[in-house]
Amino acid sequence: MPDRHIQILSDVVANQIAAGEVVDRPASVLKELMENAIDAGAARIDVDIQAGGIKRIAVSDDGSGMDRDDALLSVERHATSKIRDAEDIARLDTLGFRGEALAAIASVSRFRLITRLFGALSGTELTITGGRLGDVREAGGPQGTTVEVRDLFFNTPARRKFLRAPETESGHLRLAFLTQALGHPAVGMTLQADGRPIYALAGDATVADRIRDLFGLEYLARLRPVSYEHGSVRVSGFAGVPAAARLDRGEQYVFINRRPASAPTLARAVREGYHTLLASDRHPVVFLFLEIPPDRVDVNVHPAKREVRFRDHDEVRDAVIGALRRSLASDGAAVLAAGSGPSAPPAAFGAESAPASFPITDLPPVRAFRYPRLPLGPVSERPLPPDLPGGEPAAPTAAAPSDGKSPWDWCRVLGQAGSLYVVLETAEGLVLLDPHAAHERVLFERFMKAVAAGRVESQSLLVPETITLTPATVQPCRRHLELLRAMGFGISEFGGDTMVVDALPALFGGASAARLLPDLVSELESTGPRADRSRWSEEGIAQAACKSAIKQRDRLTLAEIEKLVLDLASADMPYTCPHGRPTMVWLSFSELHRRFGRT
Ligand code: ADP
Ligand code: MG
Repeated sequence: MPDRHIQILSDVVANQIAAGEVVDRPASVLKELMENAIDAGAARIDVDIQAGGIKRIAVSDDGSGMDRDDALLSVERHATSKIRDAEDIARLDTLGFRGEALAAIASVSRFRLITRLFGALSGTELTITGGRLGDVREAGGPQGTTVEVRDLFFNTPARRKFLRAPETESGHLRLAFLTQALGHPAVGMTLQADGRPIYALAGDATVADRIRDLFGLEYLARLRPVSYEHGSVRVSGFAGVPAAARLDRGEQYVFINRRPASAPTLARAVREGYHTLLASDRHPVVFLFLEIPPDRVDVNVHPAKREVRFRDHDEVRDAVIGALRRSLASDGAAVLAAGSGPSAPPAAFGAESAPASFPITDLPPVRAFRYPRLPLGPVSERPLPPDLPGGEPAAPTAAAPSDGKSPWDWCRVLGQAGSLYVVLETAEGLVLLDPHAAHERVLFERFMKAVAAGRVESQSLLVPETITLTPATVQPCRRHLELLRAMGFGISEFGGDTMVVDALPALFGGASAARLLPDLVSELESTGPRADRSRWSEEGIAQAACKSAIKQRDRLTLAEIEKLVLDLASADMPYTCPHGRPTMVWLSFSELHRRFGRT
């Protein structure tokens, strides 16, 4: 029998075990070291990595530095300068507080710390190998701190086996660097990997500067600014236009009090913020910075502090959803322009001014088509571009929507292509519109407003329809009877699996109940019992609107097209259908010029 008596583990072993929670790969070492540098008030941080950080990670900062005693203490377990008692966590203004990172890292690597306290004449250098303190000596070097971590997990082979190829670890390191860079734009940062410079980011920057430096100017043009306040939560940052969405969640950066954070609440809220703007397999690009009073968020859930918990989930959720909705609904022209082409949004777009009716003139006779221009939304005072015919002001063909967020000052219907797509000319380029998707969006918003206001008009059917449902849909139909009635269906049970429908929502005039109902019911069902009621009706309405929208191949009259475009222009979120597919594709003249080599 082996010795089974209880023993206290040595510090070295305890640190190695704790290291498993704090550092699982080179990227988490980098995160901890960069956070320490930021907490030390660094204005500049230089990172140098080798072989995916497995061989070497070095982080230098120009922060406060430490004196000899503090340097020795900093590598002890539970040694921190950032809190004194557990209460302090509730008023934390630093990224670290657990005092474990350096001890943990030093226990599983060849570790070297060189530090010189602000104003001190000389500094301190110490080395630790696998948790055992080696040399401690006086050292020169600039003010600030450099931590070098070599041969990570050299003494814990089991853990070392979990490391991936250097290229994979490099990817994680880059992401860790990028995340810190986004969270702390005031700090200048450089990253060098295997001798090659990867990033050199100027300090004193804004979040927008950082996004531009890290991802490029075109990327920035596809983001909308976010600024919102709800209760005690402030949200700022950027939200990607729907067209910039991706197939994975890789570009969702959420920070809480400048700390990268994840929580189920946040992920769900982001999804919800884009509801009806994105197809279900797409994920939006977001850079969100939440500011929450420290006592309303618990960051001490996870040793690496990745997960957070909120005191008031609902408040955080509503803040994120509200922030995204507000950002995406406002002046959507830039969304359209930035969303579908490499060209930046034309500067004039969205320049809203006092509503004025716009002159409608016929085209000069040299043109084959004599469509009137279509005034849309609040029209800017901007004069017509010189290459377009001016002319005497005449009465507008249709009233401009009073509070619409107009994509264009005016547009002209050029026709319908492929018996489907509507082609429009605007001052800044061409727009191709999918009338089916556009109509869905219009119906959807109208109906949502009607349901919310409790004013759904229903239209009695001349001959009530009896619908025999399948066993799979009859139960859910019964469950949702009340909601269906609120949506304007005159529906009652006929006995067995049969329902009678004697009225339909007026907006869906002409649709067949037999076609509408079964799909609608299964849709209501599949959104799940946890979704709240308004969400159910939103899903159901999207489905119903889709069913009764203009059919794929309907030829439209000019009047119908004009009405549709006007209706769409006054929609809150005109750029996608309720399922998230685009309603229009934008081709700017500058993009055309570029393609024709006319730059
Ligand atoms: P924590 O950050 O949770 O306090 P760490 O183990 O990461 O724990 O660091 C321990 C202590 O060492 C910190 O509280 C800080 O006082 C000091 N320290 C660590 N890194 C630096 C640095 N780059 N510059 C100045 N002080 C540092
Ligand atoms: Mg730390």
